[in-house]
Amino acid sequence: MHINDAVFLEDLCPKFRFRQWRKSIHRFTGRSCIYCGKPSESIDHVLPRSQGGLSTTENCVPACLSCNGNKSDENALYWYRKQKFYDPRRAMAIRAWLDGDLRLAIRLLQWANPNFRMSDNNYEKDEPDYEAA
Ligand SMILES: [Zn+2]
Repeated sequence: MHINDAVFLEDLCPKFRFRQWRKSIHRFTGRSCIYCGKPSESIDHVLPRSQGGLSTTENCVPACLSCNGNKSDENALYWYRKQKFYDPRRAMAIRAWLDGDLRLAIRLLQWANPNFRMSDNNYEKDEPDYEAA
């Protein structure tokens, strides 16, 4: 009965799981906006929810409030290309993220931003969670 109880508890606490998941998204980029590199304060749906975008790791990127609000319902890559802070390495990173290749995305973001800090240990520790999601 203990296993059933655990499943039941998880169902009861979707908010807790959602919060953990949001945290892990921000951790992937060292809490920086995937578009401009400023501190990420929100999660942006690359394909907007209004267009059927899902709340999956592949469709959700860390973004600052300014980018998130600016982009609105536009296609993310199309919108990004028009920004002053456009960086082709970041565009590649966003594409890799959408493909679910977070490892490549993070490497590209590191390339785009030499100040990028992310502990490899943290990433390894978080990886099983990511693959299970
Ligand atoms: Zn931003």
